[in-house]
Amino acid sequence: MKAHRGRLPGGFPEGWPLPPEDEELLEAILARKQALRHELVILAHHYQRPEIVGVGDYRGDSFDLSRKAAATKARHIVFCGVHFMAESAAILAQPHQTVQIPDLHAGCLMADMAALEAVETAWEELAEVTSTAALIPIVYMNSEAALKAFCGSRGGLVCTSSNALAAFRWGLSRGEKIFFFPDRHLGRNTANRLGLAPADHVVWDPEAPLGGNRPEDIRRARLILWDGHCHVHTRFQVDHILAAREAYPEAKIVVHPECTAEVVALADASGSTGFIVNYVKEAPPGATIVIGTEINLVHRLALEYPDRRVLDLAYSLCPNMFKISPAKLLAILEHPGEHNVIAVPGEVQENARLALDRMLALRP
Ligand code: SF4
Repeated sequence: MKAHRGRLPGGFPEGWPLPPEDEELLEAILARKQALRHELVILAHHYQRPEIVGVGDYRGDSFDLSRKAAATKARHIVFCGVHFMAESAAILAQPHQTVQIPDLHAGCLMADMAALEAVETAWEELAEVTSTAALIPIVYMNSEAALKAFCGSRGGLVCTSSNALAAFRWGLSRGEKIFFFPDRHLGRNTANRLGLAPADHVVWDPEAPLGGNRPEDIRRARLILWDGHCHVHTRFQVDHILAAREAYPEAKIVVHPECTAEVVALADASGSTGFIVNYVKEAPPGATIVIGTEINLVHRLALEYPDRRVLDLAYSLCPNMFKISPAKLLAILEHPGEHNVIAVPGEVQENARLALDRMLALRP
């Protein structure tokens, strides 16, 4: 491997080791970009490998990337991320745009924990013990398009990890309770920020009758939290925080809100990927920052801010994000608009768009 010297566009971090074959692939990707020019836009999620981020036109979180792509004139949008992200881009895309993903098998284990049929069954079960007219469904961005449509058609909305608090406030101002899926930890962390008591929320186990709850607990709850999680973020444990505090007493520890509430409570700060990027950017030179999120973002921040000490709380890689490789990206660029095209059926798109538009109208 040899260290790359920052020739690639998009802020490719200097010093990142690259195998020689990837070096050649990246040169070929750049040549395809040059040939396609404004017809193409490559989106790279923050958790992509640095070499993919380096050839992306935009980097960021899934929703911001989708919005940016839809605002361009590009005909071909290539999303280097996981499937639900490409779907969100397809929902927001203009009619002349196609959205492709370099690997159709790049899914999200958390999104897979809440299938539409299971959520519909849960809704029907809930209707037997509480009024669904006063139940507001809210879905995390990390979910399939059909669930976004489910929420759109029932007066609910989508939220991201940066606006979950505003979304929950919105929901509780319109109904008696919220049904949130699929990430119970983001749900619980948001409930804590709202100052809700533990008795105010219940967890819905999709395998158990009535989600494993008593009817009276459901009736009393303000939040019903689907029992899903991100294995990348639940890997961070309280012991990791304690060890980091001991090893680096001067450090600030920042974690993602998909971590457990116990981990979030012990960290100095918690927020979305965008929040974490800004946290490092705004830290003074010489600061030590220990980060609890996907390892590729942590490594990239360490390279981009060499005058801060950026460390990982523990090594945690998202295997699905890692499925996007330079070889797969190049294969897509050789056939723009043809392979691995993500399409969302009309009615699903319409209702999902409704839920996304309600999110956009949220006040912080
Ligand atoms: S990091 Fe977690 S939420 Fe994000 S794609 Fe991977 S499994 Fe899904």
